[in-house]
Amino acid sequence: MDEVIVVGAGLAGLVAAINCARSGHKVTVFEKEKQVGGAAHIRPAVDVTPMDREALAGFIGIELKEPQVVPTEEFILYIYGKRYSIPGPWLHLHSVERGSRKTSLDQYLYKTALDAGVKFEFGAAIEDQEQYACLPFYSIIATGLTAEPFHAMRRPALNVYGHIARGTEKGAPRMIAFFDRDTKYYRYFANQNGVAFGLGFDAAPVEESLRDEWNREMEEREGWRFKQWLPHEGVVATPRIDSPALFASYRILAGTFAGMQDPFVLFGVHGSLCSGKIAAMAVEDRERAWRLFKDFTSGYKVSWSVKKIFDHLPHAGRNIALRSILSLYGSHQGRMQPFVEFLMRTLPGYGRLPEGWIWRKK
Ligand SMILES: Cc1cc2nc3c(=O)[nH]c(=O)nc-3n(C[C@H](O)[C@H](O)[C@H](O)COP(=O)(O)OP(=O)(O)OC[C@H]3O[C@@H](n4cnc5c(N)ncnc54)[C@H](O)[C@@H]3O)c2cc1C
Repeated sequence: MDEVIVVGAGLAGLVAAINCARSGHKVTVFEKEKQVGGAAHIRPAVDVTPMDREALAGFIGIELKEPQVVPTEEFILYIYGKRYSIPGPWLHLHSVERGSRKTSLDQYLYKTALDAGVKFEFGAAIEDQEQYACLPFYSIIATGLTAEPFHAMRRPALNVYGHIARGTEKGAPRMIAFFDRDTKYYRYFANQNGVAFGLGFDAAPVEESLRDEWNREMEEREGWRFKQWLPHEGVVATPRIDSPALFASYRILAGTFAGMQDPFVLFGVHGSLCSGKIAAMAVEDRERAWRLFKDFTSGYKVSWSVKKIFDHLPHAGRNIALRSILSLYGSHQGRMQPFVEFLMRTLPGYGRLPEGWIWRKK
């Protein structure tokens, strides 16, 4: 069978590699870092995303289980100082450990890939235009939110800036998000398997002095203390209404690099896992993969447009909009369910997992 090259050993790249290897291809993955789990300064981390764990596992053909993927017990939201608590299951939230620890999803997928016969080249960055031009047609590019490949492949990306918090926290998995005057985006903190992680970010540089404020606030309000804070500069994949793309220059794109990122909250885990499967499918049958990709990203344009409006609201308007939605949730949970389901459908792949993709234990 043909050899398949995958660039990037993250969620999408690993799912793509596993599925290609299972279809009988010889697969080699090129990864920039010396091991799986991504860049050391942002890992270990806890990513949170809505998901239907069974349906997603069925689609990608890989079991998703604890401790790598754990239901998030509670979602705490601070809207301009007012605290709201929402049960995690109401939003189908799941916490996903990222990085190279034994309990991370990256490590679990890596082991699954080795079992499937995938070969890895670590410390092998594919970063400039010439290197991309040398890759065989229909290689899979799954380099996540690292800026260089976006520039080399001329893919649209939006710069983001902020601060990353790292610490420890032993309790049940929670997500704590703050919408306030400090950023036009938001900051979130999450914990799982003893790891605590936080990210506060915006489309413009975020003042360093805010870190102390954020630390104090987290300790006073939720009892979490972060000893280490690092500046963050990166990109997100959602600058344009037409950002999602499965193919570019005869290469197959996967994960957030393919624009499989929800443009409102910027969830990328769900879309990246789905997208790895679609990329593997594209090696065999481009037409079918393209139809599925279009279907999985069909809620993107609505979500992107809502986000544009939200970004242009002054803080007072954002405060009123968010608090109104949450007080409606408080008094009419049942009636809010269709709205929540609609929002979920704007998440790449969520609610679009086709019937018949049943994961079977061997
Ligand atoms: C700090 C941070 C927090 C996030 N939090 C969340 C969250 O809570 N929930 C959520 O849903 N999403 C979150 N995201 C989005 C997140 O990136 C995606 O959810 C997910 O990791 C995307 O999967 P992926 O496979 O596309 O990329 P990744 O999992 O990031 O994998 C990309 C891989 O490619 C490698 N790579 C990069 N450049 C090169 C190169 N030039 N050559 C070779 N290899 C390369 C990287 O080292 C990495 O291993 C977060 C992103 C960041 C940066």
